[in-house]
Amino acid sequence: MNNMATILLYPKVDCPVGCAYCFADPGVPTGAKYDKRAMIEKLGEISGDPHESVILHGGEVLSLPVRDFEFFLKAVYKLRGTTHIQTSLVGLTAEHIRLFKKYKTNIGVSVDGPPELNILRGPRDSDQNQTYQKKLVKNMAWLREKNIGFGTISVLTKANAVGDKLETLIEWASTNGINGRFNPMFLPFWSDSLSQYQLTPQELKTAWIRLAEVALENPKLEWLPAREFIDNLLGCSSLACCIVARCDYLTTMCKTIMPDGNLARCDRCFQDGYYYRSNLPTTARADMLGQTECSDCKYFSICGGGCAGEGEGGDPRHKTMYCEAYYGLYEFLEKRIRGMMPNVTLSVDVPDYYNECCMKGKRINFTERMKEGTWMSSPPDSGHEDYYMDPEQNRCNCGGGEHGR
Ligand code: SF4
Ligand code: SF4
Repeated sequence: MNNMATILLYPKVDCPVGCAYCFADPGVPTGAKYDKRAMIEKLGEISGDPHESVILHGGEVLSLPVRDFEFFLKAVYKLRGTTHIQTSLVGLTAEHIRLFKKYKTNIGVSVDGPPELNILRGPRDSDQNQTYQKKLVKNMAWLREKNIGFGTISVLTKANAVGDKLETLIEWASTNGINGRFNPMFLPFWSDSLSQYQLTPQELKTAWIRLAEVALENPKLEWLPAREFIDNLLGCSSLACCIVARCDYLTTMCKTIMPDGNLARCDRCFQDGYYYRSNLPTTARADMLGQTECSDCKYFSICGGGCAGEGEGGDPRHKTMYCEAYYGLYEFLEKRIRGMMPNVTLSVDVPDYYNECCMKGKRINFTERMKEGTWMSSPPDSGHEDYYMDPEQNRCNCGGGEHGR
């Protein structure tokens, strides 16, 4: 399989942040012990593919004892020559900053916009939340001051991604040079009280398209998923990101190394209480959706039914409940690309693109029909030999697994 997985090191430490939509399994006691040597041993066993990102994840990783934090960074650095963490920056110290530099750490900051929009993150007590918000702003400035770059993961909800709030979010991200991922809120089934904040599929579609419109005006804005969806339309060999890479709920694209060193599925599955993961890949969910709910969809090859954790009605056998947003963003981007390049060849023009190109590591030659010099050529109607090049001559450099969640 040519899709890149992400490996999460998940020591499951206490998280002092207390976000409203945390989906950590309440059945697992906080403060559970982790076996760092068993975790790193497992990492050594499964980390053969250098394109797979290894991310130190939590809980809040900065609340690990510094000695253990360095133990994990050092081990990953030895394997990859670089390290990744996901953090809310709560508990950031000068010692962490020293370690980030030493171990070339790529930092993903969890933040949903400026303080007035970031209201679902942080402690639920309002005084404590204000302190958290101030500290977060200060810590992001501190990283910048120390020349440490970072990306972000922002969760889109009704608190930050509808109407004027969406424009405020965009203004904040543009003016601060924020690059990162804009994900819909994941709502575990046991958390009814939060459904009031969940975007409808139509609202997510509007937000994603608006973010894409702004990103398309500024090449410096690496806003996801729009940039990844463009890569997928242009046929960039491996599919970008787990949510459109035929993740199967039984295995998942994301491999989580649990505190005891065992391998589990993506943490979005933890709501079901069944953690462990098979090493054998399966595409059963996408195979089934390709014959049922997604069978007529022109984007199936580059969507595959979306995130398994977002299955309609909480059922991973269904396509994502946000289908309208996935489809809408692909449709918007496809129109933009074809508007600029009427004779472009896109992945959706290639019959069975997923099996013929993604699985074989082939990249589309999207200029193939342009060289004919016709503005109005018809879509190809037979075969796909003309539309992509030999994999030995053309390697995709989109980064593959370098995508956070
Ligand atoms: S856009 Fe919707 S219908 Fe199309 S493949 Fe994705 S989930 Fe299925
Ligand atoms: S369950 Fe969703 S978030 Fe997790 S690996 Fe699969 S697609 Fe990605």
